[in-house]
Order: sequence, then C-alpha cells, then structure tokens
Amino acid sequence: MSKYWSDAIKDLTPYTPGEQPKVDNLIKLNTNENPYPPAPAAIEALNSFDKDRLRLYSDPDCSALKEGLAAYHGVERHSVFVGNGSDEVLALAFMAFFRQPQPLLLPETTYSFYDVYCHLYDIKYQQIPLTAEFGIDLADYDRPNGGIIFANPNAPTGRALPLSEIEALLQRNTESLVIVDEAYVDFGADSAIDLTHRYDNVLVIQTFSKSRSLAGLRVGYAIGHKDLIDGLERVKNSFNSYPLDMLAIAGATASLQDEDYFQQTNQKIIDSREWTAQQLVQLGFDSLPSCTNFLFTQHKFLEGAELMGYLRGNNILVRHFSKPGIDNYLRITIGTQQEMEALVETLRNHPDL
Ligand SMILES: *Cc1c(COP(=O)(O)O)cnc(C)c1O
Repeated sequence: MSKYWSDAIKDLTPYTPGEQPKVDNLIKLNTNENPYPPAPAAIEALNSFDKDRLRLYSDPDCSALKEGLAAYHGVERHSVFVGNGSDEVLALAFMAFFRQPQPLLLPETTYSFYDVYCHLYDIKYQQIPLTAEFGIDLADYDRPNGGIIFANPNAPTGRALPLSEIEALLQRNTESLVIVDEAYVDFGADSAIDLTHRYDNVLVIQTFSKSRSLAGLRVGYAIGHKDLIDGLERVKNSFNSYPLDMLAIAGATASLQDEDYFQQTNQKIIDSREWTAQQLVQLGFDSLPSCTNFLFTQHKFLEGAELMGYLRGNNILVRHFSKPGIDNYLRITIGTQQEMEALVETLRNHPDL
C-alpha cells in the first residue's frame, strides 16, 4: 500500500495465476498448458521471422491473423477481434459490454478472473450456483441482467453444455449480451461460433494458449456480430493500439495452417485424459466427466490439500482451490502420456493408498 495509490485499487483482489516455478524436473500439471510443442508451421514462422522488422510497430489491426481466423472459422473478417491472450479480450469485453445498470450473471464456480474484472470495473454481478452435479443450468439465468458470461466447457469443472441449450438461452435473453468463453472447446465440446451467424447477442472467446500450445505467445480472440467487434475495437484503441507483437501475429497465424498436427495433439490429450480418468477410479478418485485438457477430481477419503502437498513433494504440481464447495478437489492438467503414468504411479505409492 502506498499513499500514491488511487482509491479504486486499494480494495482490488487480483487474480492468482497458477505457479510458474523456476526449477526444472517438475511435472507441471497445474495451469492447463499443453504438453506438446506448438505446430511445426508456427515454429517455422518464428524461426524465419525477419528480426530487423522489429524496429517498426506491429500491425495495429492484426490483419493477417484476423484473416486467418476468419477463414479458419468460416466467418467474416469484421466478425473477428484479437487480443493479447483471451484474458485481455475478456478484460476489454467486460469494459465494452458489462458496465450496465443490471448485474452481470456468472456461475458461482467458474474461471476466477471474471469477478476480478467486475471489481476492477465496478460491475455489479450475481453468482449463480452450479447444479448438484457441478453443471450449469441456463434456466437459472432467466432473470433481469446486464449480461451473462460462462465458460463452455466450464473451468475448473470440465463439464460442457450442449449448443441447443446455449441457443435457447440466446432466444430468451435478447436484451443483453451472452459471452461464451471457449478456452477448452477443442478438447471435446461444440463451439458456439456457428450461432454468431444468426444471433447478435452472443460473443465467443477462444485462445491459442491451450489447444494450440501457444500460452507464452499470448494470443486470444473473439468472434461475434460486427457491431460487437466494433465495440471491442473502440475500447482497445482507447487503451493500447498494438497489443499483439509481430512475433505473436506471425506464430499464431501460421499455427492455423497445421490442422493435422492440431487434431493429432488434441486427440492425444483426449486419449490420455480418458486413460487417466480410468486409473484414478481404481485409486479411489471420483472425477467429473471432462471435455477439457484437465480432470476435476476428488478422493474418497484423502483431502485435496493434503494430496496436492504430497504430489508437490514428489515434484508433481497440480491445482487446488481453497474455495468452499470445491476445496476437496484437485484440478489436474493432462500432460503427456508419460507424465500421466508418473502421476498415477506416484498416487499409487501414497502411504494411505
Ligand atoms: C486459460 C483460460 C483463459 C485465458 O487464456 P489466455 O488466452 O492464455 O489469456 C481464459 N478463460 C479460461 C476459462 C481459461 O481457462
């Protein structure tokens, strides 16, 4: 605290990202990063990048990336917005759309950056409890609101909603914007991007960080009606004209060209996820069905916090949230098959198992 701080920042509780330890030899299953390298086309684009160009500013419009994304997803170029990670896209979207007289509705258990942005921008919000099975019931969102946001699949639960339920929500909720955060959609859920052709009240946000193995490059994007994208551009251009650097634009654009690699690595992660889920059952864990690159799991009698500490002592990092209701759960990112075998072996050696 300093006397120079603005009043508005004194009460902020910033988001706590998963640990990025500086030591090697850790099996890192705590931040939902992809264990496989980025697409060969992305690596090649970065290797062959002409560094002399770095003396110039990057393209403020990120045209190459927007065109690549528009072609990839079969949408118009004016329906695409890009940002420095989807966290930045989300931050700009909260600013652009959710500062409304009515409260924003969001699940009680979801990506914990959402309520951080609400506090930052002084947005009123209401947290809607999950169902007993940790699902989202969109009927619970039929109430006055200034916007709705949820992750699909949701984090950290891993459960996904069918598109039909999201479409029905869009038909009922016509006076405010619905944002669907699809950070994990490529691991087994259906994207709402198709709905953006028919509904102007939905904005879909995706990222290169998880399924495209480019968390360190910081690239995320939104797809929606042109007027929504224009709103995001207004905020972006009132904040930072060049949020994406040249390397990020080049690497992300190139990664879209390697569809086979993308499908193969996603499938490997899905296969390892299902293998791990089966092994965990045998060790006495109960996991939610996952459409993501992580498992949300709790043990029959061992405590989540204790298990996290035990794994950490064996050089395996997983994520534990001390939030009531989910504090017995671990969120375990799916690493390589070899890493998952090491995890299972370590758990099997737990003194109480
Ligand atoms: C990882 C994650 C993000 C942030 O991704 P970046 O693009 O790396 O900023 C956003 N939403 C959810 C639900 C996530 O899990």
